[in-house]
Amino acid sequence: MIAGLANVAIVVATAVVMELIAAAVHRYVMHGFGWGWHKSHHEDHDHVLERNDLFAVCFAALSAALFVIGAWHPAVWWMGVGTALYGLLYFIVHDGLVHQRWPFHWIPRRGYLKHLVQAHRLHHAVRGRDGAVSFGFLYAAPLDRLVRQLRANAHAGRRQE
Ligand SMILES: [Zn+2]
Ligand SMILES: [Zn+2]
Repeated sequence: MIAGLANVAIVVATAVVMELIAAAVHRYVMHGFGWGWHKSHHEDHDHVLERNDLFAVCFAALSAALFVIGAWHPAVWWMGVGTALYGLLYFIVHDGLVHQRWPFHWIPRRGYLKHLVQAHRLHHAVRGRDGAVSFGFLYAAPLDRLVRQLRANAHAGRRQE
């Protein structure tokens, strides 16, 4: 029982850490030197896949590596479960609810999921690499704060030109 709870704690903690890592990677790598891959996600197109999906492949590889190492270290195996769970939630919220990359159409009309969708739409309000807001996927700041930040970024961007 105690061991089971410890494993659940590892899974939840890993998923939380993954959200922090994903938000940081999105902000500093994808909107930084990794823009070459991520750009495809900020452009309109009618392809099924995007070069940006390679980032998801990298995270899936990380999860797979944790499962392999976990064959010798059970705690690491549960970290692999947490990483895979995060990947699943990321796919449901980002690829599914926001970008509708699945065969059915459902948009949350209330609650936290609606908030996440609206916040990520604000992320896409900026087409270029700079000045974007809301880099997380399962956590987002209040919308009015994001809108204020977006305006301030646009203002700062204009001044730089
Ligand atoms: Zn982005
Ligand atoms: Zn997106």
